[in-house]
Amino acid sequence: MGLFIRNVSRDFHVGMAQLDQSQWRALKMSFPSNSTEEVSAESKLKELAKTKDTRAESRVPGDWGKLDSMESDFTKDGLDSKDRQNQKKLLKLFEQKKYQEAYDFAEHLKSTSGPMLKKWLFQQSPVLLTALGWAFVGNHQCVQAIPLFNEALAIREEAEASRGLLVCAHAAGRKDEVLSLSDKLLEAGVKDSLVLSIRSDALESDGRFDEAKELFQGNEDKKRALERRSELSQRQSQARANHFQITFEPSIQEFLLDDVISYLEDCLGEFNQMGFPFPSKTIEVVLYRSRDFTGVAGGQPNWAEGLFDGRMRIPVSQTWKAPQKEMRFAMVLRHELTHALLHESGANIPVWTDEGLAQRMACIPFGCAALGGRSKFHQMRLLEGSFLGLKAEDARTAYQQSLYLIYSLEAMLGPGGIKDLVESAQLGGSSKQITERLGIGSWEQIYNDVSKKYEQGVQFRPQ
Ligand SMILES: [Zn+2]
Repeated sequence: MGLFIRNVSRDFHVGMAQLDQSQWRALKMSFPSNSTEEVSAESKLKELAKTKDTRAESRVPGDWGKLDSMESDFTKDGLDSKDRQNQKKLLKLFEQKKYQEAYDFAEHLKSTSGPMLKKWLFQQSPVLLTALGWAFVGNHQCVQAIPLFNEALAIREEAEASRGLLVCAHAAGRKDEVLSLSDKLLEAGVKDSLVLSIRSDALESDGRFDEAKELFQGNEDKKRALERRSELSQRQSQARANHFQITFEPSIQEFLLDDVISYLEDCLGEFNQMGFPFPSKTIEVVLYRSRDFTGVAGGQPNWAEGLFDGRMRIPVSQTWKAPQKEMRFAMVLRHELTHALLHESGANIPVWTDEGLAQRMACIPFGCAALGGRSKFHQMRLLEGSFLGLKAEDARTAYQQSLYLIYSLEAMLGPGGIKDLVESAQLGGSSKQITERLGIGSWEQIYNDVSKKYEQGVQFRPQ
């Protein structure tokens, strides 16, 4: 720890914070969700539109598969009235996105219905299995999802089931599986942004930038950023640590590399005390000379101090040992590490909670500044999407207000509140389940209450 915490200033001002071009965020938004009560379809659609997912419009949560109604081909042959009613009930459950109930009901019907309905049930089962699988994926519960996708695929080739397996393989860092699954999907003509970005990520881990670039025909920002990273990679070397793989410029190695590695490893121990598990897969960190940092992510604004897009990307200034800079650098590492750990567990939390926690974990050793405003609090929708697209001034307040939200949550939860919050987020499940475990009402309620306090000028500073 020692190295980075000299020059501690209690007056540290939470100013311009780091940017995160979180691909993960975009991925999450294209997941169908079974918890429609939490986010209205309308706001979800707006988020989807923001991700520029070419399939966004057709990807209303849950709208990825349909059960065929028997109306056209079977009814004339006749189901008895009980089977017909049961079929209607099942179709309704599915339409309401109650996938677990639909699945359970179908299982029950398999043993109790007549041969005609049984045949229909068998034909529909890949869709039922895949829908339920995606509901689990939406809650980051791949352990439950994977067997369902595999069962669906054993019945017939179902692109959505393969896509589900792809997301789970990616989340677990199984690179070879990602490459073979995405290869198959591309061959089958499934080329949506989710498949492309996951494949590109795995290719980049292998240094296969040219192949990654080919995936993004027509997306100049993406291609330019990959080109830039490819150029830089020619000079970069790699080092392995216990939980990290560090890619770096040789000029950085001489003065900093060992310190970064031991600091990050130390942070893991410290973060563990705050409820974060140790990572189960290697976290990739890329250290850039600050002058090389511009353009590595494509569309990143120049105020970014670091970012996380599946990898921690951190610029290193030659003058990092100057007063304040060393602390700032440590904070950037801590901030992006928080994102990496939350990302790995796939915690289903709003962007502002993610950003607030990252800043809260960053400032712990240095003293966290008091916050509170009397000025206008951003509308929730502004803090729900990536901060990437915000103007510098809006971004500055978005970060501040995210941290303020976390301070207030902490006050609400009492001593050890951050740990409780992190632990609940790590347990998985829907974002509603996370707040239910904490007994703190919905995220929206919290947001509304806290924004009022802010506008009234209530100050918070964590102990
Ligand atoms: Zn961040």
